[in-house]
Amino acid sequence: MTGAVYIVGLGPGHPAQLTPEAAEALAAAEVLLGYSSYLARVPERAGQLREASDNGEELARAAAALEGAVAGQRVAMVSGGDPGVFAMASAVCEAIERGPERWRQVDLHILPGVTAMLAVAARVGAPLGHDFCAINLSDNLKPWTLVEKRLAAAAGAGFVLALYNPVSRARPWQLPAALDLLRRHLPDTTPVVFGRAVGRADERVIITALDEADAGFADMATCVLIGSAETRIVKRPGREPLVYTPRNARPSA
Ligand code: SAH
Repeated sequence: MTGAVYIVGLGPGHPAQLTPEAAEALAAAEVLLGYSSYLARVPERAGQLREASDNGEELARAAAALEGAVAGQRVAMVSGGDPGVFAMASAVCEAIERGPERWRQVDLHILPGVTAMLAVAARVGAPLGHDFCAINLSDNLKPWTLVEKRLAAAAGAGFVLALYNPVSRARPWQLPAALDLLRRHLPDTTPVVFGRAVGRADERVIITALDEADAGFADMATCVLIGSAETRIVKRPGREPLVYTPRNARPSA
């Protein structure tokens, strides 16, 4: 039999938000690779090997998957959300670009998943209903000055922003600094959504305004959506408010 690598997006966390295609690939895999917290979401199956690895070991994990496939194994690498959004798929492409010629022949399948910003947006309304962009706030793989430049350019150009990886134990000051910067470019009333662990048992969603947005509302499992000057909050008596960005922008925006 011929080996293959499936890079599988698990979605934000709720099993109902895993695609049928992803579920099939997980069930058919002989070897599962990924962070232990993602592997823990995949039901155990007899005869399937599991190898958990840590953050920062992406290239080694990609190499293990590709070599497994060369040796004839069906390997599934799991990612939270979508595997192409700040996740394993680009690490595997990078490994193939840099690695031995035989890796270019591996049968590779990238199976998309519901990424965090879409899951958070769907909880509150339609904040991504007009032009938006996603920025990874981690400065592990790029300098902080570049993050600042992109935040200012995106906010200044009227994009709604989805901030991934807003904080970690090693990166406590980046989100407060980002919020300070954004306050210089956007109105105080700009809606901000902190969506934490959406789709999981410990989900928490906070809707606030930029002048009241507190970095303490976010942790490693939070995706922060920052509205544009067009984004609105619609109050609904007895129900959660709706946050949405109108489909049409004012010519002055
Ligand atoms: N590939 C993933 C993102 C990996 S980066 C995806 O497509 O969603 C990890 C970041 O994703 C976290 O720091 C957080 O910002 C966000 N995230 C992942 N799962 C989330 C969830 N269930 N709810 C809110 N944010 C989440």
